[in-house]
Amino acid sequence: MNQRQLFLQHVAQTSDAPLALEIVKAEGSTLWDADGKSFIDLIAGISVCNIGHRHPAVTEAIKKQVDQYLHLLVYGEFVETPQVAYAHYLTQHLPGSLNSVYFTNSGAEATEGAMKLVKRYTSRTQIIAFNQSYHGSTQGALSIIGDEYWRNAYRPLLPGILHLNYNSLNDLEHITTATACVIAETIQAERGVIAPSKAWMQALRKKCTETGCLLVLDEIQSGFGRTGTLWGFEQFGIIPDIILLGKALGGGMPLGAFVADKKIMRSLTSNPVLGHITTFGGHPVSCAAGLAAMKALQEENITGGVKAKEKLFLSLLKHPQIKAVRSAGLLIVVEFESFEKNKTIIDLCIGSGVLTDWFLFAPECMRIAPPLNISDEEIIKACGIIIDAINKA
Ligand code: PLP
Repeated sequence: MNQRQLFLQHVAQTSDAPLALEIVKAEGSTLWDADGKSFIDLIAGISVCNIGHRHPAVTEAIKKQVDQYLHLLVYGEFVETPQVAYAHYLTQHLPGSLNSVYFTNSGAEATEGAMKLVKRYTSRTQIIAFNQSYHGSTQGALSIIGDEYWRNAYRPLLPGILHLNYNSLNDLEHITTATACVIAETIQAERGVIAPSKAWMQALRKKCTETGCLLVLDEIQSGFGRTGTLWGFEQFGIIPDIILLGKALGGGMPLGAFVADKKIMRSLTSNPVLGHITTFGGHPVSCAAGLAAMKALQEENITGGVKAKEKLFLSLLKHPQIKAVRSAGLLIVVEFESFEKNKTIIDLCIGSGVLTDWFLFAPECMRIAPPLNISDEEIIKACGIIIDAINKA
């Protein structure tokens, strides 16, 4: 059996149509397969590789840490320098009230940890989330995602969850003194990049403050420069009580986090002690990689180039068959009439060396979320291939 057959035979599949490309090398915004064919990466591991694949600062930091130690002990017991250094750097780049970082393995685990934390801190049980939001695939996170197709088969899910319409001012009246927290994506990514109005985000913040519930913003996909500012929430003039991080947080290594004020985070320390337990959360190699990636993002001012690259994409993505283009920095949606049309175009793009895909809750939309430092030449080439694919589809 060849690698592809072994993959299909022994690596558990959750769909009948995996991409099944055998990638043997990745660098910057390019992937190469086993036959030497190259692909311009317009997905970046779903907003993970924001500074490109295998940035030298990241691979260097990983090698250095591997020579010191790997896993030592469950989370939070030893003073592990990579964790400390990253938590320190991260909080220096966040508002003062977001000063305590709990590192997890993944975005979903960050969601789970935050859901537990808000219950402990507020002694309330109701969690409010939004229709068409995505926060992860574990049971707790699944309970709050806003799409019945993806939730239904796993019922019973967590009780006490209320879903509201995103960006609806009227719906905010359902937030009450019984609400432990409201969890929202700063920009709804998997719905096909829907940004709320500034007025709504500010009203949401106000309502949470008035009712004493915590505002949790999921920046797992919108963080680390993706939308043109380091954090998405900066664009709305508000500060959340807790943020969820993941994806680009680890610089290509697995890492998530929920970040809050120390006075909130302290509620995990008693009754019961060890309010959230994780063996591998904040793995030293992941933290070393993530810190190097975030430093590169900042020091090379990669976020500063996002708006110009977004503009270049938008100027090139014009075709009568495109129904709409939406964007929040380098999180771009190209909407077609149907999933079938989108899938045909995506397959043609992959055949011609451009890697893209669709959104979970918006299958008729093509995802364009490349490394943030993709070059203008790569953008021009990739868009040319997309337009050719649309003409052929
Ligand atoms: N939240 C958002 C907004 C996401 O996009 C994702 C993943 O796509 C998650 C949470 C879950 O992260 P993970 O897949 O690391 O569990």
